[in-house]
Amino acid sequence: MIPLAIPNLSGNEARYLQECVESTFVSSVGPFVDRFEQMVAEASGAKFAVATSAGTTGLHAALAAVGVGRDDLVMLPAFTFIASANAIAQCGAEPWLFDCTAESWTINVPQLQQALETKTHRNQAGDLIHTPTGKRIAAILPVYTLGMPADMQPIVTLAKHYRLPIVADAAAALGATYHTTPIAQLGADLTVFSFNGNKTVTAGGGGAVVGQDEALVKRVRHLTTTARVGADYDHDVVGFNYRMTNLQAAVGCAQMEQLEGFVARKRAIATRYTQELASLPGCSPFPTPDWCDSACWFSGVIWPTETKEIREALRAEGVDARPFWKPMHLQKPYRDCPREGMDVTDSLWQHVLTLPCSTALTDTEQSNVIQAVKDYAAQEKAA
Ligand SMILES: *Cc1c(COP(=O)(O)O)cnc(C)c1O
Repeated sequence: MIPLAIPNLSGNEARYLQECVESTFVSSVGPFVDRFEQMVAEASGAKFAVATSAGTTGLHAALAAVGVGRDDLVMLPAFTFIASANAIAQCGAEPWLFDCTAESWTINVPQLQQALETKTHRNQAGDLIHTPTGKRIAAILPVYTLGMPADMQPIVTLAKHYRLPIVADAAAALGATYHTTPIAQLGADLTVFSFNGNKTVTAGGGGAVVGQDEALVKRVRHLTTTARVGADYDHDVVGFNYRMTNLQAAVGCAQMEQLEGFVARKRAIATRYTQELASLPGCSPFPTPDWCDSACWFSGVIWPTETKEIREALRAEGVDARPFWKPMHLQKPYRDCPREGMDVTDSLWQHVLTLPCSTALTDTEQSNVIQAVKDYAAQEKAA
């Protein structure tokens, strides 16, 4: 089976892990954690970074740090991985769900703007209130789908106007740029990455929260380390145990050394699928919005029909093809959340076919994947 997306551990991973064991620094303090934070900050163009145990825990800590709390609403595109919504729920808040655009698979900015204009008001305390539910709106959480930054310029303008913080779910977007601007400099207060096993760069598991405001990033660090003040079991708020371990960071550092090559390979794989498959009858390419240079975490094609049959046919040929995110308004925990129209999300999600795109995928393997898809299309046309 040609796998969908597996880690590529061809660098210094084993050597750095060995160093951890020999030095006994295996837990959440250690030189690799510090180095990993520096590497992530540098690669994303951020001034400050905090490594976390996962992308999800990083999102939770980031949302808590910008003040999201019980009974708040956070504006979120419905087309995302459930971790973004879960992080909101873990704050005791609820997502307010938005559509994405066909051109970018990221949040629909005109819809966001219209909802802010027509469905919100300020209460006497100066909070922005969602008029239909009476809930306070606490933040915007754009998602950088597949490693494509959302259209951040207008989002940042809206956020400033309505005085809302932005936490960006950039889980798979390390290496991407927006109009040549590095990913951490797009105006989000905090930007969150994931280093889960299926991401382009992995730490086995892990995350990172980056930002430009030292006090805010310090607050994230404080929250992720049980909110300890001083050495003597003294804690000032309800904190979390969300730190990355030195073992994870050892793998993460070895992977970060290869970031550039990995992203280049991901882009080449995506381009080739688009060139060879997007012109099949009824198919279309994954989007490439002109405002960004995507990190191309996953690649594939938009298939004309629901993808269950082709996925089964490809699996029988030894090709691991998968569907992509099932949107939040169709997930049991979030189906009653406030939401706007979902035209694009509803018509899109069942047509997304992701194809093998590991960085170590060979050209021959990709040729085999492409041939299997073409064969299926030809056979379907004949039937
Ligand atoms: C992978 C991913 C996450 C979750 O990251 P974990 O490290 O697995 O917790 C969150 N959001 C998006 C968009 C992701 O792709």
